[in-house]
Amino acid sequence: MYCSKCGKEIPEGKNVCENCGAKCNNVENIPPEYKPISMWGYFGYQILFAIPILGWILLLIFALGGARNKNVRNFAASYFCVFIIFIIIIAICASMGVGVSFFEALKSM
Ligand SMILES: [Zn+2]
Repeated sequence: MYCSKCGKEIPEGKNVCENCGAKCNNVENIPPEYKPISMWGYFGYQILFAIPILGWILLLIFALGGARNKNVRNFAASYFCVFIIFIIIIAICASMGVGVSFFEALKSM
């Protein structure tokens, strides 16, 4: 990576140019565990976590700290919460649906 002000090379992992002191907030200098995920990255993870069983196992692993990147971990954890809420809603709907059909079956008897 090169300084945007003076053009001198800046060692990897440094955020300040040693030559002129200019601050460089380059993505390349962000530690790997905090590297931002691109829109397509999030898109890819979303598709991955939607895969039945295999994706859900990966989601659980990532949410519990299997991912090195903090952004991936947080994304997996939030996705996991949505997933749980979704399952609860489906379970409630299913139980209500079963209840209604059971009641109708009783009435027709
Ligand atoms: Zn510089």
